[in-house]
Amino acid sequence: FLGSYAINPVNGEKLPIWASDYVLADYGTGAIMAVPAHDQRDGEFARTFDLPIRVVVDNADDIAGDGPHINSGPLNGLNKKDAITKVLELLESTGKAKATKNFRLRDWLISRQRYWGTPIPIIHCESCGEVPVPAESLPVVLPSTEGLDLKPKGTSPLGGAADWVNVPCPNCAKPAKRDTDTMDTFVDSSWYFLRFLSPNSETEAFPVQAAKDWAPVDQYVGGVTHAILHLLYARFFTKVLHDMGLVDFDEPFTRLLNQGMVLMNGSAMSKSRGNIVALSAQLDEHGVDAVRLTMAFAGPPEDDIDWADVSPSGSAKFLARAWRAANDVTSEKGVDFATGNKEMRKATHTFLRDFGPLIESFKFNVGVAKLMELVNALRKAIDGEVGPADPAVREGAEVVAKAISLFAPYTAEDMWSKLGYEPGVALALFQSADESLLVESNTIAVVQVNGKLRDKFEVSVSISKDELIAKALESAVVQNAIGDGQIVQTIATAPKFVNFVVK
Ligand SMILES: [Zn+2]
Repeated sequence: FLGSYAINPVNGEKLPIWASDYVLADYGTGAIMAVPAHDQRDGEFARTFDLPIRVVVDNADDIAGDGPHINSGPLNGLNKKDAITKVLELLESTGKAKATKNFRLRDWLISRQRYWGTPIPIIHCESCGEVPVPAESLPVVLPSTEGLDLKPKGTSPLGGAADWVNVPCPNCAKPAKRDTDTMDTFVDSSWYFLRFLSPNSETEAFPVQAAKDWAPVDQYVGGVTHAILHLLYARFFTKVLHDMGLVDFDEPFTRLLNQGMVLMNGSAMSKSRGNIVALSAQLDEHGVDAVRLTMAFAGPPEDDIDWADVSPSGSAKFLARAWRAANDVTSEKGVDFATGNKEMRKATHTFLRDFGPLIESFKFNVGVAKLMELVNALRKAIDGEVGPADPAVREGAEVVAKAISLFAPYTAEDMWSKLGYEPGVALALFQSADESLLVESNTIAVVQVNGKLRDKFEVSVSISKDELIAKALESAVVQNAIGDGQIVQTIATAPKFVNFVVK
C-alpha cells in the first residue's frame, strides 16, 4: 500500500493505491482500476490483503461475465456495454474525461541488412540529411553482386558496393551515400497484386485506371499462416493508397479462402515423424491429372486432407473411364443435340445446372462427384440401347471434357481432340442448362384395391386420369386382386394414384 488514495471520478469515492507486479507495466499507463469481484487476479489480490470485494455486475458466479449492474448508482440495471457508454457520457458531461481509442500497433521497421530486397530510395547527405531519390531517377536498381559479401554479418552487403553507394546529393551535389539497407519483403507483398496489373510498366507502380478496372482482388486463396502479418500489411497499404486517391477501394481482398493442409496418417508431414509423401513420387506413379483430381475430390478445400485416406489410383481409373467415353463417341462434331436421347440429355443438363454453382462456391469435391455421375450415365448410354452414335452421347462427352479440364487438363485436352476439336478445351464455354429438359418427366403411380396397395409402376407426369385407370386395369396383380368382384367406384388422381372399390 503506497499510503495514497485516488478519487473515483464517477462517484467521488476514495480508493487506496497499491503497487503489485501482476499488473502489466506496458498496458495503458501501467496504473489500473482493480475490480476484485470481476477479475480473478484482482480478486486473489484483494483476498490476500483483505480489501473489500464489491460485486457490481449480477452475472451469476461467472465472475467476468456480463449481466445487469448492481451497487453502481446511475449504472444500475445496465449491461456492461451500455454501462460503458453511460459512464463515458457522465464523465464527458462533467468535463472529467473524454472517450478515446487506443491502437495497440507499433511502428514497423521495414529496413533489412540484406542484398535481396527493394533498395530504399534515400540518399544520405551530410549537409541536407535524408534526401529522396528524385522521381526521374527511380527505380533504384540493385548493383551487381560481383565482389559483394552476401553472407549475413549484421551490416548491409550493399555497403561494399562503393560505386553504387557513392553518389552526388540530388540537392546540393556534394558527395553523399545511398541507403544501404533494403526493404522487408513484406513491403512488396503488401501491394504486388496492384503491380500484377502492369508488370512491365517502367514509369509507374501501377496504372490508376487499371486498378479501377480490375482491382480489388475478388478471391484470395492462401494458407492461414498469411492471416496475421501479410494480410494486415496489405490492408494498411491499400488504405493509404485509397487516402492518396490512387485506388477507389479501401480493402484489397474481397473474399478469403484459407486452404487446408495435406496430412499423412493424421499429422502434418515432417522428416522427424517419417511420414513424408513425396509429391514427385506421386506424380510419377499416378500422373499430375490424377493427383490433382484426388486433391479436389478429397474434401472441401478449407479442410485438411489425409493422404492415407485418398486414392490417386481411383482417380486415374475414373479419368481413363471418362477418356474412353469420349473415344467411343461415333457421331460427328456439330450434330444437333436436340435430336438426342432425352434421358441422357437430362443427365447432362442436370449436371450443367449444378456444376457451375458448386465450383464457384469452392465445393470442388461435390463437383467431382457430379462429374462421376455424369460419366456413369454416359457409359450406360454408350453400352445400352442409346448407343455411341446418339447426339446426346456426344453432348455429354463434350460437357465431361470441359468440366474435367478444371481438374485434369491433360486428360481433358486429349478428350477434346478425340471429339474432333482444336486445342484448347479450357477456352470452350459451358452451354446453359436447358430447363425444359430438367422437368421431371416420369413419376411412380400407386394402385390400391379397397385401400390396399397392390401395384406401383412408372408413368409419364402428363398421363390423363383415364389413361392412368386403363393402365392400372392392365396390371396382372391388380386384376388378380379384383378377382370376381365388381368395381363399384374408382377414385383416381393423375398421375400418381388409383383406388378401386370392389364388392
Ligand atoms: Zn546535400
